[in-house]
Amino acid sequence: MRWDIEDTDAQRAFRAEFRAWLAEALPAGWVEAVEAGDDAALEKVKADSGFNPFSWQGTIGRSPFSAPLWPKEYGGMSGEPWMVQVVRSELVRHRLPTVSINLLGVGLAGPTIIEHGSEAQKDRYLRKILSGEEIWCQLFSEPGSGSDLASLATRAVRDGDEWVVNGQKVWTTIAQFASFGMLLARTDPDVAKHEGLTYFIVDMKAPGVEVRPLKQLTGSSEFNEVFFTDVRVPDANRVGDVGDGWRCARTTLMNERAALAGISLDPVSFVGGVRRDPWTAFLEAVPDRRDPRVRQRLAQIYIESEVKEITAFRANSARMRGQQPGPEGAVNKVFNAEFNQRRSELTIDANGMHAVAWAPDDKAAESLAHTFLRARANTIEGGTSEVLRSQMAERILGLPRDPEVDKGVAWVEVKRN
Ligand SMILES: Cc1cc2nc3c(=O)[nH]c(=O)nc-3n(C[C@H](O)[C@H](O)[C@H](O)COP(=O)(O)OP(=O)(O)OC[C@H]3O[C@@H](n4cnc5c(N)ncnc54)[C@H](O)[C@@H]3O)c2cc1C
Repeated sequence: MRWDIEDTDAQRAFRAEFRAWLAEALPAGWVEAVEAGDDAALEKVKADSGFNPFSWQGTIGRSPFSAPLWPKEYGGMSGEPWMVQVVRSELVRHRLPTVSINLLGVGLAGPTIIEHGSEAQKDRYLRKILSGEEIWCQLFSEPGSGSDLASLATRAVRDGDEWVVNGQKVWTTIAQFASFGMLLARTDPDVAKHEGLTYFIVDMKAPGVEVRPLKQLTGSSEFNEVFFTDVRVPDANRVGDVGDGWRCARTTLMNERAALAGISLDPVSFVGGVRRDPWTAFLEAVPDRRDPRVRQRLAQIYIESEVKEITAFRANSARMRGQQPGPEGAVNKVFNAEFNQRRSELTIDANGMHAVAWAPDDKAAESLAHTFLRARANTIEGGTSEVLRSQMAERILGLPRDPEVDKGVAWVEVKRN
């Protein structure tokens, strides 16, 4: 299936401008290999030029194309939502990464600083987020506070021009590599939970910050525990007003959902008229397609992948018409997470023993198992499917809200686990 939308004149001109920039910025032979559909030639250009996602982030991150919606003065274009779609479709077409290596910086911290940060903070942090020179992490979740994030307990106490932070965060993705973290901390325990929070930028190398990597089911250590012991954070690193942390955090969370929905979607855009074929790649991972039960599941996955793509198409075309992201953000996040789990379950089932025991050098089999195990996290990270379903019920379907037993009660008086 294939959909095409005609570019408007402005879109066509912008696409041409970005293509011209790519032709200059990419190693010699790259564009020609893409245009000829010659995968082997492209791999050779990549190998010969030593291309890697980190150096590429530096290249695109120093151009305005990496953040068309960010203000011009901080490395963006002060542009329109459709520009993001055009850039994305050209990146897919040129087989380039569509996700920044500094995803939490570009997707979450940047938009929050742009909306709530001071001029000095915008000046200090935004460009280095885009270039990938400074990696960011998100210090929100705690052992006792995940879905009910506003109940968190990490304390920040004012001491002159500084705040002293004590507490623990968990699930902190890439904290071990991060220069800075977005920290949500409790500055007033005597008011209701949402009202006593403040948002800070924390230097991850500051004395008293201890990062302990956690070993995951997959064997890798993507996320960490982070402990704060008398960590001193300058008041200049406060984002927004004291007590206004929840409002700033909501900006981060809304952007997180959109960023995660974008990742779990295959990086396909119909706007450029070119699309990768994730379906063929998936079929190749299911070697024996004769069993009728496997065929039924394949048909089901095919139907779901088409539904997923049509939803992405609707969202993309709305964005191309200049509309803001709508409720499809939560819908996409839930659907994509569960779809990814069903898809990886099928590849494991269909590969039988090969999927659970493989020769040490069989990278393809290892990757199947890794994908299956990693997919478990999709329905938890960035908001669980249960909690997002409740949000959809309330905000899209207009059903009654869940009872809030701690509404208006001072945080310090609420029973906690
Ligand atoms: C791979 C991964 C990376 C992550 N990275 C980060 C990160 O970088 N920074 C960060 O701050 N956090 C991160 N998180 C944390 C993530 O946001 C939380 O795990 C998530 O919000 C759920 O919180 P929890 O784990 O405390 O589970 P809980 O909130 O304790 O939930 C436990 C179970 O109860 C259900 N539940 C809870 N409340 C309700 C409700 N009201 N109605 C119905 N069901 C409910 C949940 O759906 C879940 O099944 C990451 C998580 C994962 C898996």
